[in-house]
Amino acid sequence: MVPLAASLNLNPSSIARMIPQENRTIVGRLAPSPTGGLHIGHARTFLVAWLAARSAGGRIILRIEDIDASRARPESIEASIADLRWLGLDWDEGPDVGGPNAPYLQSMRKLNYQAALDRLKAQERVYPCTCSRAEIARASSAPHPGEEGTSYLGTCAYRRAADAESLSGRSFCWRFRVPFGQIWWDDLVRGMIAGAPHANGGDFIVGRSSGEPAYQLAVVCDDAAMGVNQVVRGDDLISSTPRQILLYLALGLPEPEFGHVPLVLDADGQRLAKRDGSIKLAALRDSGVDPGRLVAILANSCGLAVSRERIRPDALIQAFLFEGIPKAPWIVEMAGSYNE
Ligand code: GLU
Repeated sequence: MVPLAASLNLNPSSIARMIPQENRTIVGRLAPSPTGGLHIGHARTFLVAWLAARSAGGRIILRIEDIDASRARPESIEASIADLRWLGLDWDEGPDVGGPNAPYLQSMRKLNYQAALDRLKAQERVYPCTCSRAEIARASSAPHPGEEGTSYLGTCAYRRAADAESLSGRSFCWRFRVPFGQIWWDDLVRGMIAGAPHANGGDFIVGRSSGEPAYQLAVVCDDAAMGVNQVVRGDDLISSTPRQILLYLALGLPEPEFGHVPLVLDADGQRLAKRDGSIKLAALRDSGVDPGRLVAILANSCGLAVSRERIRPDALIQAFLFEGIPKAPWIVEMAGSYNE
């Protein structure tokens, strides 16, 4: 068994992490969660992810992230595919076109996640945690200035993985031991940026008490298994990236490059919510909006100097540059402007 101290002796900022830059085909992905139709914010992020891979001559995988059975809605899978196709995006592999990395639904890939969790257990990188939500709220550290939230304080971190056997009948999840320190990466949009998972959430969940894998583990397993080497996604996931880098390191998997596209906010400065129907792609489509018009507006918001008339995504490939994407959030233009 790996001594507990050894598993804690991981200082990611001191480990040289190599991301090969040359002689490789970029493999990007679009990874919608089927929890309601896509909105303009998703469209912008997916357009950037698509352009990033295509402008590098790369491949694109469509993966449906339906791991959270309580939130995933099967009808949203087809709706998301229809929304992306309406925008003019395509992909080389996906649930509707097949491919060598099938299946492309996370709900069908659970054995992979279980195998990864078993490896983390064998390495004592994870421990069983029996804390209830209320216990965690009581024991969590208060946020310090500049920190995002509370951190789990490691109440159950004294346990070894094998201790799970003596917990039968009790509900427990699996938490990943987060080392102290900052984790840096060279973000494709933001440049060098760091996160400190120990101060922002602490030891995080990789296996739920329901037995389901958690997002962080599923996404790392899938990206690695599918050969994804470029992850372009929304800014809302930026605090997940250092956690995922820790998982790549622990599992000995090659780390992709990451790019985080700034948030899209509504006119009140609030994050777009899927429940706000007016900015959903399906609503725009139903009201007769030309997708080329939407793509032109999104392209403009990403610093691509194109006419706002109408354009197809493939006409933007040549001009795409990460450097042009503004780092500030984009205030969405509301429904009316897409019909003009
Ligand atoms: N499925 C996630 C979402 O729709 C994206 C996950 C990721 O890109 O890593 O928010």
